[in-house]
Order: sequence, then C-alpha cells, then structure tokens
Amino acid sequence: MKPIYMDHHATTPLDPAVLQQIMPYLTNHFGNPSSTTHEYGRQARRAVDRAREQVAAFIGAQNSDEIVFTSGATEADNLALKGIALHPSRGKGHLLTLATEHKAILDTVEKLKKQGFSVDFIRIDRDGWMDLDHLQELIRSDTLLISVQAANSEIGTLQPIAEIGKIARERGVPFHTDAVQALGRVPIDVVRDSVDLLSISAHKMYGPKGVGALYVRKGVRLASQIDGGGHERGMRSGTLNVAGIVGLGAACEMAAAEMPAESERLRILRDYLIERIENELDYTTLNGHRVERLPNNANFSFAFVEGESLLLACRDVALSSGSACTSASLQSSYVLKAIGIADSLAHCSIRFGLGKSNTREHVDFVVDLLKKHVVRLREMSPLYEMAKEGIDIDQFNWGEHSHDEH
Ligand SMILES: *Cc1c(COP(=O)(O)O)cnc(C)c1O
Repeated sequence: MKPIYMDHHATTPLDPAVLQQIMPYLTNHFGNPSSTTHEYGRQARRAVDRAREQVAAFIGAQNSDEIVFTSGATEADNLALKGIALHPSRGKGHLLTLATEHKAILDTVEKLKKQGFSVDFIRIDRDGWMDLDHLQELIRSDTLLISVQAANSEIGTLQPIAEIGKIARERGVPFHTDAVQALGRVPIDVVRDSVDLLSISAHKMYGPKGVGALYVRKGVRLASQIDGGGHERGMRSGTLNVAGIVGLGAACEMAAAEMPAESERLRILRDYLIERIENELDYTTLNGHRVERLPNNANFSFAFVEGESLLLACRDVALSSGSACTSASLQSSYVLKAIGIADSLAHCSIRFGLGKSNTREHVDFVVDLLKKHVVRLREMSPLYEMAKEGIDIDQFNWGEHSHDEH
C-alpha cells in the first residue's frame, strides 16, 4: 500500500484525461511544429496553437502570442528576471521581490546582484503577507521589475496581486508574478490584475513535468536566455516539446472548468483539517495567513516534536516538513525563517498540500495519526512537561518569533 499523497505543492499526479490528450503526440503525431511544409508538421503546429490558446484563455491573456513555452516555471522565472534585467535597452538597475519567493527567483536575483544589479526585499509580516506601502517606498527611478509570487508553496499565503499590479502600472514598472501555486486554485487574470509577466508550471496542476510557460504582455521586451532558431518569437529557442505543451494546454482547460467547485471542496477540507488540529492538539501554530491562503494548504508547527521524527512516524501519508535535510545538516525552511519563525519551531513544522484525490477520510486518517504520534513524541520531551506545569520556557525559544528584518 502506497502512502496517501498529501504533498500537492511539490507536484501533482498527471490527470488520466490529460495523458490521453498527450499520447498521440508521443506516438503517431510526431511532426516538428516548425516543419510546416507538410502535414506532419502542420498537425503538430495546430496542436501547439490550440494549447497556446488554452493557456492564454486560462490566465485571461488577450492574445495567444503572449504565451512563451518553456521547460517549466524555473525557466520561466529565469527568463522573466534575466530577460528584463539583461535586455540591452536597460541599464544595471534595481529589482524588488520577496524573501519568501521560490528559489528560482531568489537564486536568480542573487546572481543578478553579483552582476551589479541592486535588489530590495519588500517587507512581509509574520503571516508572509507583503506590505504595499513599503513597496511604494522602495520603487526608485531605476527599478526594472517587481517580482512577487501569487501564492507561497510552503505556507500558502496569497499576495495582493491586483493591488501590486495597480501600483506597478502607475509607477511604470513591469510586474512579474510566479503564479505556479495559485493557478487552478484561485482566479488569476493578467488583464484585470495588471500583470506583465507570469510564470506557469504544468506539473503543479495535474499536467506533465518539464513544461511550463511565461506570459509576456505585448510590448514587454525580454533578452532571450536560450538562443538558436528563433522559436517563440525569439524569446526561447528550441524545438517545441509538443506533447508537453499539449499536456499544459489540456491541464489549463481542465483547471478552468474544475476550479470553482474543486477549490471550494478543498477549502472545506482544509478548514476541517485546521479545525481538528487546533481543537485536538495543544501547542500548535498555524503558519501563514489565516484568510488570504491557498484553499489546499495548511502548515503547522507542533511544538516539542521533531518534525523529521513526526514525518517518519507518519510515513503512511506523503507530507513534507519545514526543514530540509542537506548533506551536512538539518536546515529549517528559509520561508519560515523569513516570516520570523524560530528555528526550534520551524524544525517541527509540517506542510499539508491537499489535492484532487484527497477526501475527508484522508484528513481524518492523517489527523488521527498525527495526534497519536505527537502525543507519543511529546511524552519524551522534558520541555513539554515543563510547559504543561506552567514553567516559563520562553528562554528555550519555543514559540518565540523574532521580527523579520527584510
Ligand atoms: C514548483 C515551483 C516552481 C518551479 O517549477 P518547475 O516547473 O518545477 O521548474 C517555481 N515556483 C513555484 C512557486 C513553484 O511551486
């Protein structure tokens, strides 16, 4: 028996209906969409055009030309940031982002910084919610780009995309959003939200791995990062991954159709999970914003319990913890750190990523399992005994949140 899958922020299973649409393009329909002198190529071209329209419609883009297919959101994020920063029409200016962004953003801005660009992080509160006034203050005459995620993959916090878009437009600064986690879960519309660049990944929304897209609003000029052949309006060369692109298009169309009902179902399931944990276990903290939150995310710190031990004990459910094992040490999540969660609490954090396959029975199963093991592991914790006896344990840093310094 495989564990119950509850890690849908890391990846989602390929939907069988999407696979069915992909299959012909891995077999009989093998044409190169650039080879339009014959029917093989034209057939592939039609499939790519259709997918481009499906993606554009899903995010509210006015023209399907504005979709640039990539190998995933990591590449889309790189293309957005480096494409703006390194375009010959622009100088070594200033970039604005959040400390809680995906590594595809953070490692890219770090590299640009080494090349002479300056970077500022917009202030976030302890729910991970960004400060719009601080954004206004940080914008300079040489600000090249604002890049803010639509939703966080660890703590589920949503950001005020439409408000950021409005500010960016007023100040004449391009706005990029990594919308990977939000797409298919909350409505996004690039026109309504004044978004100039938006990153998409198929495998986070029941499509295949290794394919994604960058929405590039008409008139926004990017320096290509992969050259050769001039595909995708010169912004991303390389023979198109036709099967993957067909899968991305199908996933977008499916998400658009299913989202209203599925998001509501997940929201109810998530609230049930949160309610049970908060009512049935003491010394727990919900990380992330309580309201402005992905409908499929919950993230809890269970004080006095080692997250890795808890995950090991709960191996009948596929979950992820607030720490990452590097070869040398156990590091707590940079996202939890950035919102001011003490290392001690970050190490006992667990992320729940709900998805299409999850049911109320799954939630009951995971909560019952957690309860059993949290209680058992805490029996071995002298700190827990002290806390229960009312001894002030602040000196041990449990539950203490230093304020963020970004
Ligand atoms: C998964 C993820 C990415 C990377 O997407 P890939 O397609 O796997 O490269 C980028 N940003 C966010 C927020 C993600 O969750």
